[in-house]
Amino acid sequence: MKSRIADNLAQLHKRIQQAERRYQRPPGSVQLLAVSKTRPAEDILAAATCGQRHFGENYLQEAVEKITALADLNLCWHFIGPIQSNKTRLIATHFHWVHSVDRLKIARRLSDQRPAHLPPLNICLQVNISDEASKSGLSLSELPEAARQIAGLPNLHLRGLMAIPQRSSHFEQQRHSFRQLHQALQSLNNEGIGLDTLSMGMSTDMEAAIAEGATIVRIGTDIFGPRD
Ligand SMILES: *Cc1c(COP(=O)(O)O)cnc(C)c1O
Repeated sequence: MKSRIADNLAQLHKRIQQAERRYQRPPGSVQLLAVSKTRPAEDILAAATCGQRHFGENYLQEAVEKITALADLNLCWHFIGPIQSNKTRLIATHFHWVHSVDRLKIARRLSDQRPAHLPPLNICLQVNISDEASKSGLSLSELPEAARQIAGLPNLHLRGLMAIPQRSSHFEQQRHSFRQLHQALQSLNNEGIGLDTLSMGMSTDMEAAIAEGATIVRIGTDIFGPRD
């Protein structure tokens, strides 16, 4: 188990470096977020032993248990799952980053509930690129106003945008979705909202995301194996 995770991480770092070179991205400009949802703390420890520092979790209850159990390791924890209002206090208390903020109300609560002794919570706004009614995320038309308001909240640091586009096995189709998110980031930056993070790309579309400017790729399966 441990050596499989080590092998997978080494393989993934190679893939990231190759994609950085191929798409003229500066070396080291793409950060690996290890998505550890549903995995036991031992798997996270195995990855941390290989130098992996950033971990992403979707389910609050299990995340808080693992964060507490592994507190000595000083890992950096990213919440990437859907957020209900009654969960914001625990998220604001335990996490360093939240990638899945999709409405002003949630952002206000996270800011209000961020403990005073902690630095501002890093935030990405989740954008619904494929515009499917079923998926969460701000629409591209809602994004500018939401970003302006959220950028002004005192205990948050608005860092960038996140998306989970519709699955496609076609590389050009994948790139098209990610390009839309990159363009949305650029137009916010043109308005003077200083964003530096594009959280996009998972195990099956990581290269396309890197080609279009991803700064954080969120990888679960290709590190820890398939989930049940
Ligand atoms: C589960 C999940 C991932 C990781 O997906 P893999 O296909 O296992 O790499 C990335 N981002 C989000 C938001 C997820 O929920």
